[in-house]
Amino acid sequence: MAHKDVKIHIIGAGVSGLAAALTLKKAGYNAQVLEQAATIGGRVNTTINGAMKLDHGFQVLLDHYPAAQEFLNLDALDLVKFSPASVIYIDGKKHVIGDAQRDMKYAWKTIVAGVGSVSDKWKVYTLSRKLKQKNLIDIFKSPEKTTLQYLQDYGFSEKMIKSFFKPFYTGIFLETQLQTSSRMFEFVFKMFSEGNATIPAAGIKAIPEQMAHQLDGQIRLNTTVKEVVADTIQLVNGDNLKSDYTIIATPADVLVPNLPKSNNPWHSVQTLYFDTDDHGFDQPIIGLIAGDDCLSNNFHFLNDVFENHPKVISVSVVAKHDLTKDQLEERVRKELIEQAHIKAGDLIQMMEIKKALPTFDSIQYAMSPTETQLTQNIFLAGDQLSNGSLNAAMLNGKAAAQAVISNIENGIFV
Ligand SMILES: Cc1cc2nc3c(=O)[nH]c(=O)nc-3n(C[C@H](O)[C@H](O)[C@H](O)COP(=O)(O)OP(=O)(O)OC[C@H]3O[C@@H](n4cnc5c(N)ncnc54)[C@H](O)[C@@H]3O)c2cc1C
Repeated sequence: MAHKDVKIHIIGAGVSGLAAALTLKKAGYNAQVLEQAATIGGRVNTTINGAMKLDHGFQVLLDHYPAAQEFLNLDALDLVKFSPASVIYIDGKKHVIGDAQRDMKYAWKTIVAGVGSVSDKWKVYTLSRKLKQKNLIDIFKSPEKTTLQYLQDYGFSEKMIKSFFKPFYTGIFLETQLQTSSRMFEFVFKMFSEGNATIPAAGIKAIPEQMAHQLDGQIRLNTTVKEVVADTIQLVNGDNLKSDYTIIATPADVLVPNLPKSNNPWHSVQTLYFDTDDHGFDQPIIGLIAGDDCLSNNFHFLNDVFENHPKVISVSVVAKHDLTKDQLEERVRKELIEQAHIKAGDLIQMMEIKKALPTFDSIQYAMSPTETQLTQNIFLAGDQLSNGSLNAAMLNGKAAAQAVISNIENGIFV
């Protein structure tokens, strides 16, 4: 069998599966991507509702992710950059804290903001300098502790943690207690310090769409895999596909018999989109609600981000609660007016993403190619193998593809 005739399948057209397919394509191999949904992108999705672009959960691309530079044409994505700052509401009062190294206009505002002491703000600066110098390998080799412990050990005051780090990183880690590994904190803080938080002008889904565009005819939608055993993929419709190499770019424990089931829970988030008469901040910026017992975590105005977008506010709720959807809608509306003086109008849509981010016993940067090989025929990808980010998802897809290529080219035929 000629090298290029081997049958390769990838299960899942999320960014990890797409990165695997692109890596194989670059090396001259045509993999078939099998996707259960009617659309590509997995967790990276945008609903277009008339003139509105409603991302499935607030999600940003950090443009300094090494994988973003490698897999995406960032110029073509026409990225909208968020200001390197946050508007924080504490007990109805507005504070602005920003990165003065990037934009001097935030220097004074940050110093006078009632969010931590001057010493806290100096520590933010020194931490940013330290992490710019620390390379990714060292970050992911560092001993792990919780982010909360890390911030306390660095000397930040309880006030600074409560009024800035907790609300800001709750929106990123999708958990409220800062229990996520300090490695992930350092990685994300470094990415925020070195680059920008961005959203493509067409919505977050433009990311997988750009990737999928290069894979013409290679993606089979509405194709659900039931099981993978050795060189056979069984679809739920009963069809069997012969596959010399299969990359499973989604949790594999449900597809491969006898694999131990992962017990790690997933973090979830609810996103509420309201129309509003509020004109927004006149720039893309993240709003944080740091009031005690508030369910609303972060918000932004879509009309600040997307050109000619109707006035819409997006609010993320991360904290666990037992409210009904109607009660949650009212609660968020009340918090917006009481805390941030923003009047939310009609609810446009409420999205609940139950499996938003995987959780880990230990965070890694990305898999090496050899680590992705499960059996002679089966390879693993997806963010859930190392850390919950677009960066890890893409890099793990690439690693699995490289492992397949090296198996083929080193003569390890199946
Ligand atoms: C609300 C939210 C906010 C986030 N914020 C950020 C952020 O700001 N920055 C960041 O870097 N990351 C963020 N992430 C994480 C990022 O979206 C993920 O890390 C990334 O999308 C994971 O990609 P993946 O391909 O590994 O998995 P997925 O996107 O889950 O893709 C897996 C694919 O496999 C398919 N599939 C599953 N089972 C089968 C089957 N049996 N047969 C066929 N197909 C199957 C699924 O339908 C899916 O399309 C966020 C995620 C969410 C949900």
